Amino acid sequence: MGGGAERSAPLDLAAATLGGYTRPMNYIDLRSDTVTWPTPAMREAMAAAPVGDDVYGDDPTVNELEAAAASRVGKEAALFVPSGTFGNQLALFTWCPRGSEVILGEQCHIIQHEAGGAAVIAGIQTRPLDAPSGVLEPAAVRARIREEDIHHPLTSLICLENAHSSGRVVSLAAMDAVRDVAQSRGLPVHLDGARLFNAATALGVEAADIAARADSVMFCLSKGLCAPVGSMLAGPRSFIDAARKKRKIMGGGLRQAGVLAAAGRIALDEMTRRLGEDHENARRLARLLAAVPGVAVDAGSVEINMVFFRVKAEGNAAAFDEALVAAMRKRGVVISPAFDGEYRFVTHYWVDRGRVEKAAAVFSEACAEARAAAR
Ligand SMILES: *Cc1c(COP(=O)(O)O)cnc(C)c1O
Repeated sequence: MGGGAERSAPLDLAAATLGGYTRPMNYIDLRSDTVTWPTPAMREAMAAAPVGDDVYGDDPTVNELEAAAASRVGKEAALFVPSGTFGNQLALFTWCPRGSEVILGEQCHIIQHEAGGAAVIAGIQTRPLDAPSGVLEPAAVRARIREEDIHHPLTSLICLENAHSSGRVVSLAAMDAVRDVAQSRGLPVHLDGARLFNAATALGVEAADIAARADSVMFCLSKGLCAPVGSMLAGPRSFIDAARKKRKIMGGGLRQAGVLAAAGRIALDEMTRRLGEDHENARRLARLLAAVPGVAVDAGSVEINMVFFRVKAEGNAAAFDEALVAAMRKRGVVISPAFDGEYRFVTHYWVDRGRVEKAAAVFSEACAEARAAAR
């Protein structure tokens, strides 16, 4: 392939971080929405944030963020935590007695991507049921709630995830059906809403409408909302009071955390309002990828900021994958290797329409180059 050098300079991640912190990412990173740099407005707010010692409860910026977050998701109280994983694990640790059992989807983040934390921190047993797009079948949930028996663990919680890691959004009706089962047995529901505001945008509802289907909710400020660090756990006041103490046990009692909360506040107040752009860009990306020879993508299934697709590779699939990642990187676009034969491209604040179009154009060239390498 000739001419690549004219179209895009070789990617140099180190150089991209030099030359001033307000400079936009000068490469296109489609690996995740977690790669988002804080915005210039966030950097300024962080520098100017009034702070205190949050373990003493006197960091005003954290206190304001917690109040604003609780109100936004319609809960009594909220707690700032270092990460989404931390927030989910803290919810389990707070709701669930040791040795009890949690019902959740097999493909959810708590099962797949939290390194077995539920067994380590809360000391609980998970009871997954197959739910590839995050929809838990209410009858299947009901069937797994334990009756009292000397042999049985106690069922202590049901977890939902929305938006789901598969990029799909769970309807309010599907959430209601699970909530009804939980309520009929007196069980709380925790919602992993890492991308809660993406789900709300896709459903055309308020985040509070989704969160109302659960007792507690975790959402991330650090994904498509661009905050550098931080997630929120929200729920009833008594639950959050208990969680605050357990957060200390987990080492999550931060001191002048207002520096982080200041960025989180912009994430919550402003960045939640623009996610529709990312979704539109993901649909555009899916349509452009669909036109690339050998790409199988279901553009109709794109509901949030994620595009999943497969590429038909003649020759050695592993060699193709490696060559594709390298060929993209050479052209200034960072992607993750395929997982189970599937690629995931994620749009976000730093990938505007022009960059989506560039990424798709580059992808077509990179595929041809990778096919030649893998032959
Ligand atoms: C990213 C994510 C988390 C965890 O967030 P981290 O901040 O990466 O720990 C939890 N649940 C879901 C569904 C996620 O996508």
